[in-house]
Amino acid sequence: MPGGDHAARLAALQHEARTAGIDAVLVAPGPDLRYLVGYDAVPLERLTCLVVPAAGDPVLVAPRLEVLAAQASPVGSLGLAVLPWGELDDPYSVVASVVPGALSVALDNHMWAEKVLALRDAMPAVEQVLAGPLIARQRMRKDAAEVEALIAAGAAIDRVHEAVPGLLRPGRTEREVGADIADLIIDVGHVRVDFVIVGSGPNGASPHHEVSDRILERGDVVVVDIGGTMPDGYRSDCTRTYAIGEAPEGFAARYEALQQAQAAAVAHARPGVTCESVDGAARVVLEAAGMGDLFIHRTGHGIGLETHEEPYIVSGNTLVLETGMAFSVEPGFYVEGSYGARIEDIVIATEGGVTVANNRPRDLVVA
Ligand code: ZN
Ligand code: ZN
Repeated sequence: MPGGDHAARLAALQHEARTAGIDAVLVAPGPDLRYLVGYDAVPLERLTCLVVPAAGDPVLVAPRLEVLAAQASPVGSLGLAVLPWGELDDPYSVVASVVPGALSVALDNHMWAEKVLALRDAMPAVEQVLAGPLIARQRMRKDAAEVEALIAAGAAIDRVHEAVPGLLRPGRTEREVGADIADLIIDVGHVRVDFVIVGSGPNGASPHHEVSDRILERGDVVVVDIGGTMPDGYRSDCTRTYAIGEAPEGFAARYEALQQAQAAAVAHARPGVTCESVDGAARVVLEAAGMGDLFIHRTGHGIGLETHEEPYIVSGNTLVLETGMAFSVEPGFYVEGSYGARIEDIVIATEGGVTVANNRPRDLVVA
């Protein structure tokens, strides 16, 4: 299982908190909690909060009725103290009592606003800041087990793409194809379908189109961008572009430039280069082909326990890639009213280059 080393992750977070001069980090159910202690808690109206003081032992404050579930997770084997609260207790003052002298706390970016404000009321003199920067630094650099998990997720979604050409038949709707794809995403080993984009013809020109009742026709270009969550929490995300019969005139030349752009960005990516330079490596190719204004989004995003997380592969992000950083490389081009195209692979920075988690052919697939 990825992320066995929760004690080391908590210690690293405490180090980050001390360096930043933060007295405690408060983590709600969500990807940060799962990353730090392996507890995949459901976000509920009742407060569950991991309290990580800059020095001293972390404590999980949890509703009494959730304690067994928490202890059945890696929280139990970690030896983490669980402080239960009863139905009539005020859980926010319980959190405050764990860090009585705190002057500043960092709150997990995903904590619900109602909990943030209740904590402010319970700890009125305490400064609240975001914990994202403290946690992202380690979450961005995947360890060996996490890299394996992302490669397994990539192999699973590749199997779905392998079946897509057989689903893209003229006369079917995007919605029908999307439902088949969703079933396949589960069949290949995911526990959840995160998104299914089947953008046919003009719908492909909208990068975040999902599915519609549009009927597939011969001559359509179809963008299929799909992803799900594996049992260990790690995500897949992969795009391929298909043509039903012959693609419209002029499409093939543009698609060839896209392939070159995507390959150039993957070839450029390695530890030591900036995120923005990876974006630039793709963009310069499309600009040279006169398609710069058709590439309307960033080149990629980090991926792990969330589909979109740091690092973002975008102009202006001067973060330098390090070994273990995992992200998508997904340039595209979009022609309003006609079609779109995108090629997306997940890659993981490794010594001197990247490991590519998606390995289906990147040529235009004619269905
Ligand atoms: Zn995608
Ligand atoms: Zn993506």
